[in-house]
Amino acid sequence: MAFLELDGLTKNYGSFQAVKGIDLAVERGHLVCLLGPSGCGKTTTLRLVAGFVPANGGQIRVGGKIVSSAGATVPPEDRNMSMIFQSYALWPHMTVFGNVAYGLKLRKLPANEIRRRVDEILAATRLSQLADRYPGELSGGQQQRVSLARALVIKPEILLLDEPLSNLDANLREEMRFEIRRLHDEFRYTTVYVTHDQSEAMTTADLIVVMNDGRIEQAGSPEDIYERPETEFVARFIGGTNILKGRRGDVATVVRPDGLALQCRSGTVAGEGETAVSVRQHDIHLSRTKPNGIETNTAPATVVRQIYLGSHRDYLVSLGDGETVRAFAPVDFAVPPGDQVWVRFPPERCRALAR
Ligand code: ADP
Ligand code: MG
Repeated sequence: MAFLELDGLTKNYGSFQAVKGIDLAVERGHLVCLLGPSGCGKTTTLRLVAGFVPANGGQIRVGGKIVSSAGATVPPEDRNMSMIFQSYALWPHMTVFGNVAYGLKLRKLPANEIRRRVDEILAATRLSQLADRYPGELSGGQQQRVSLARALVIKPEILLLDEPLSNLDANLREEMRFEIRRLHDEFRYTTVYVTHDQSEAMTTADLIVVMNDGRIEQAGSPEDIYERPETEFVARFIGGTNILKGRRGDVATVVRPDGLALQCRSGTVAGEGETAVSVRQHDIHLSRTKPNGIETNTAPATVVRQIYLGSHRDYLVSLGDGETVRAFAPVDFAVPPGDQVWVRFPPERCRALAR
């Protein structure tokens, strides 16, 4: 039995259903990321877990005990959980020490115990030197670390984070991802982490749950989700990709409307109707001349635009029927717009998507 279980969970706001039947099992000590575009129901799911909003259907169980169902909701203060929001919500009139100690004072712990636990968590979050400062005297990253320290110090059963890094600038955000993962490795709290940023999810998560329109689209390790997307939505959302549509040729081949046959070494070709192939920008090969002896998965194309990006060139090329494909090429492969090139879609990098 997993520590945190969501079972057929639904949430309606009036006639609008924001969460449409979510099943999820989180093992004790794991960090799970809910990843998806704005409005897909991530925050609502987190608030359901925290007990801030009641469920309309299904259940949430912690350690096998029901905490939310359509009939009853255990209030947030009776769930041993900490939630961290986008805004750090620190007390401006309290020092770093005071902010972190606050939750323990509410719980009426003895003063020496409070001092010991706060000192320990300030050391772990590298804030010891700043204990006497006020939030107004801290950088954004330092304030975010204080909010993490404050959440961790009460030793929650479950830690909930809602886009905790979205107010930080890009460099700091990247650094804090590693920091969150490091703290997780140290404290091993069962954590649900909400983000719309795929790199953030890939850096921090044991399990990534991709959400779309109130539902779970796919759940798996970062590698699973990136290497083996099951749907067009997941392939596009994680890492970006080209989706080429066609019809079934055979069990592992999709034939495009212009006749180009794409052999796919992974995925599933739909039996009937339209089916798709996903091939990522950096997996496509461009060349000036037709690749020798290779007939399959190869087509002529025209360069539409080309951008120099330092580490590579970002091409947009147009196939015979006007369909465009994005492909990355080495910087020394420089072909101007209007020129013809050959595009090769390596079968081992082509993934068939039935959905
Ligand atoms: P996310 O966090 O993934 O961006 P949310 O869970 O905040 O998405 O919202 C999911 C959907 O539910 C959105 O369409 C949003 O407009 C709607 N929604 C969220 N909160 C409320 C509310 N209190 N009342 C009505 N609709 C809401
Ligand atoms: Mg949100």
